[in-house]
Amino acid sequence: MSSSHMISEETMYVKKLGEFYDATVYALSPNRSLREDSHGAALHSYANNLAGWLARGILSSQSLSKMLISAKPLLSPEIRCGRDQRNTQSSLPARILDDLLVCKTRAYYTSKRTEYKSRKEHDMEISKKHGSAFIKNYLIPKIASLSASEESLNNILTMETEKTINICYQDLDKEIIGVIDAVIIAKIRSTVLRVIIVEVADTDTNTFLKKKHILPRILIYMSAYYLCYGIIPVGLYISLSPGSDPPALLILSKKILNKGLPRLLKKIKELSEMEEEPEPSGDPPCSHCVYANICKFRR
Ligand code: SF4
Repeated sequence: MSSSHMISEETMYVKKLGEFYDATVYALSPNRSLREDSHGAALHSYANNLAGWLARGILSSQSLSKMLISAKPLLSPEIRCGRDQRNTQSSLPARILDDLLVCKTRAYYTSKRTEYKSRKEHDMEISKKHGSAFIKNYLIPKIASLSASEESLNNILTMETEKTINICYQDLDKEIIGVIDAVIIAKIRSTVLRVIIVEVADTDTNTFLKKKHILPRILIYMSAYYLCYGIIPVGLYISLSPGSDPPALLILSKKILNKGLPRLLKKIKELSEMEEEPEPSGDPPCSHCVYANICKFRR
């Protein structure tokens, strides 16, 4: 699809935004402003409209179905399914990928999290709570009620929240464990099985694309899901920021992971083997950092 071409239909517009790491990212936009529909009302109305629009899109959008059908598996010879060791001593959280893109000193501390204790990050906790409430109280009930009452292009087979996945990377001695906000398994046009990996946060989609600090984690969830369960996934990032334009992003992998994600995992392996913390580069966000109380490079 050309980057300037938009498919117009009743519920959802799909527009290609570009290639990031080993994925192509598309904007998903409603035909009317969700904020207009909400009339400046409380977050509840916005969340309700956002969930309603996404549920209709997932169930009946022709363009979204077309993209879902075109999705490819996400494979790399260096990544394989883990063994589900939920032992914190022998695992790394998938959020270490976010840390690495924010500050490599931070990723170093996370790679040795039994030695370096992080403090709770208020914004992150709030965003997690908002995401979980949106999925459980708005998105899943909307999909369930619309799929029961409307004629759908796609059938929803299961919806699961907080799904744990494990992956191994080459000779990194710890498994990487992630918790996916929600997993939706759907039969597209009654024939093609696809999984939608849903991640929800307060971060608006423009910041998501500018910093790219959440995208590699979604890619690793997608890769892990295919390796462990054999169903081809797509990623769906939903922003709960009412000013976010577009409100959601669709992430389609390229067939082979060869640039972005394996390179980041290699860096994590190198960090986990270092004796001392490396200096940060760029402009690290120290005032919001979970390691600000122990970091010797804090600015
Ligand atoms: S305090 Fe600053 S330099 Fe240290 S880990 Fe956090 S973001 Fe990086």
